[in-house]
Amino acid sequence: LRTVDKIAAPISPSADTARALDAADPLRAYRERFVLPEGIIYLDGNSLGALPRVVAERIDACVRQAWGRDLITSWNKARWVDLPQRIGARIERLVGGEPRSIVVGDSTSINLFKVLAAALRLRPDRKIIVSERQNFPTDLYIAEGLAALIGKGHRLRLADTSDELASVIDTDTAVVMLTHVNYRTGAMHDMAELTTLCHEAGALAIWDLAHTAGAVPVELSATGADFAVGCGYKYLNGGPGAPAFVYVSPKWQAKVTQPLSGWFGHVRPFAFEPGFVPAQGIDRFLCGTPPVLSMLALEAALEIWEDIDLAAVREKSKRLTDFFIAAVEHLCTGHDLALASPRDPEARGSQVSFSLPEIGYPLMQALIDRGVIGDFRAPDIVRFGFAPLYVGYMDAWQAAEILAEILNTREWDKPEFKRRAAVT
Ligand SMILES: *Cc1c(COP(=O)(O)O)cnc(C)c1O
Repeated sequence: LRTVDKIAAPISPSADTARALDAADPLRAYRERFVLPEGIIYLDGNSLGALPRVVAERIDACVRQAWGRDLITSWNKARWVDLPQRIGARIERLVGGEPRSIVVGDSTSINLFKVLAAALRLRPDRKIIVSERQNFPTDLYIAEGLAALIGKGHRLRLADTSDELASVIDTDTAVVMLTHVNYRTGAMHDMAELTTLCHEAGALAIWDLAHTAGAVPVELSATGADFAVGCGYKYLNGGPGAPAFVYVSPKWQAKVTQPLSGWFGHVRPFAFEPGFVPAQGIDRFLCGTPPVLSMLALEAALEIWEDIDLAAVREKSKRLTDFFIAAVEHLCTGHDLALASPRDPEARGSQVSFSLPEIGYPLMQALIDRGVIGDFRAPDIVRFGFAPLYVGYMDAWQAAEILAEILNTREWDKPEFKRRAAVT
């Protein structure tokens, strides 16, 4: 980290600067731990993390031995039964959770349902769930569905802008449910400040860390967050549809229950009792049988983080995104492309978004066709994720060069780039 600090913030973006920054990158060696196809610049690790090399052998070993030969005995023998807690412990370090505050399983959407229900049970006299209109839609949809299910008049109150949040949190607010890093713009909330604001109003704070875990170190414990959820397949590289995580502050673990009271959340799942008795602590936030193959992939991916200095990850993420912004603005002059992410790296997660009215979608398809993989988010955002463990400064420079070429030649203006696929 110290070596990088000697180089001034990238002022004159060029291939030479990129080379120098890559050479001084303390995380450079981690790139080798991932499978990165030749000819591809992968800037979508915020949507689906790249494949860690170790995953294939781990899954293969499971299929051949633990599942293939040892069959059901592997629940004990290979400790499959402990996977939710074991993997949770690895995530605790990345997000500043206390020991035994996180378990892994289900999806982010489902975990959000559990913690939101749990939080609402802790504030029975209040009916308002505060969030943002710009939040990732599944979070809002889950809140809507849960409110309808409870049927006691709970409703969502949405702030139109982040600045408006302070004024919409009041003494009717049961829960404030926010995503720490905005999926579209990469704008980042001050978790400590908003959690305090929320507690001052007597409400509980739920943080969605989908675009945070593995990119921006946070301190759930120190900030006093009540609940959190997050994604396994983005910066944690757990693979498509990887299980998600759920955090419950130790101050609530013995006091709350959640409605998806499946047998893995029971105090004695193998006693097969007809009545539900919640497990001690965080385990009561589990529901059913863990998806072992997906869990093993995520566990292997998380081992990479074991001795990584999280401050170095954040430092690289800020420099890399700064460098990309500078490169794009230097190379793409004269085009209608506006930075949609905060310019201040302290207020930004590990992605850079530009708004391109009209041409965003075909432009991204043209980029992908040239091997630069980012993604498009309706209505006008092209989004580039910078996973600090495997993306380098030369990737950023080359991506900016290709982007400039496509804009200059109007390569995006081809019919094949305008056909919308199901997943953008
Ligand atoms: C990616 C993402 C999710 C994904 O939820 P799933 O249940 O895994 O589909 C949820 N919330 C936010 C903020 C996200 O960015």
